Amino acid sequence: MIFATGNEGKVREVKMMLEDAGLELDLVTMKEAGVEADIEETGETFEENAVIKAKAIMEMTGEIAMADDSGLEVDYLDKAPGIYSARFLGEDTPYSVKNAHIIKQLEGVEGEARSARFVCVIAVAFPNGDILTTRGTIEGYITTEERGTNGFGYDPIVYVPEYDMTTGEMDPHLKNSISHRGKALKEMIKLLGDRI
Ligand code: IMP
Repeated sequence: MIFATGNEGKVREVKMMLEDAGLELDLVTMKEAGVEADIEETGETFEENAVIKAKAIMEMTGEIAMADDSGLEVDYLDKAPGIYSARFLGEDTPYSVKNAHIIKQLEGVEGEARSARFVCVIAVAFPNGDILTTRGTIEGYITTEERGTNGFGYDPIVYVPEYDMTTGEMDPHLKNSISHRGKALKEMIKLLGDRI
């Protein structure tokens, strides 16, 4: 199965989760499969974008393709950056800058009003045209400063009360077991287990 992403952070997490699940599935990245594609995410939802990416790679290669679309929804910012999380303030802008910007926008906002969540939708496209999708979320609050150096992206500013730490402070195995991507992938592994 080809994983339609160029994001090394995601590849690391998903490979680790497939191993932990003991699923005999050979996951190769687009790079490893020698596929070069810059697929435009023209959808308006996480679901639409995940399906667009998985279908495009399946059609290019004739192989089963998996894609995810994920992002951070900050309730106070009307769920921004949402599907634009990677592109927020520019694709190449360092996350220290993006995170500082979100913290600044929430200045003076307190308690429950700082609620946010990571969302992940995973889509798998089969050469026969079948599509499977699953969705996972993890709820938290935006911190007032960055905390933790694990993970990637917005991890240092999403505080998860049940664990009294940000996802950036979590051990990678812990993050994977409770994260949006972990939950969506667990569901997908169940669905795939019935088919493969
Ligand atoms: P995508 O590649 O279009 O799915 O964009 C996902 C973007 O959402 C990433 O580049 C990050 O900015 C953000 N994101 C998604 N999942 C995570 C996570 O687990 N930790 C931190 N940031 C994340």
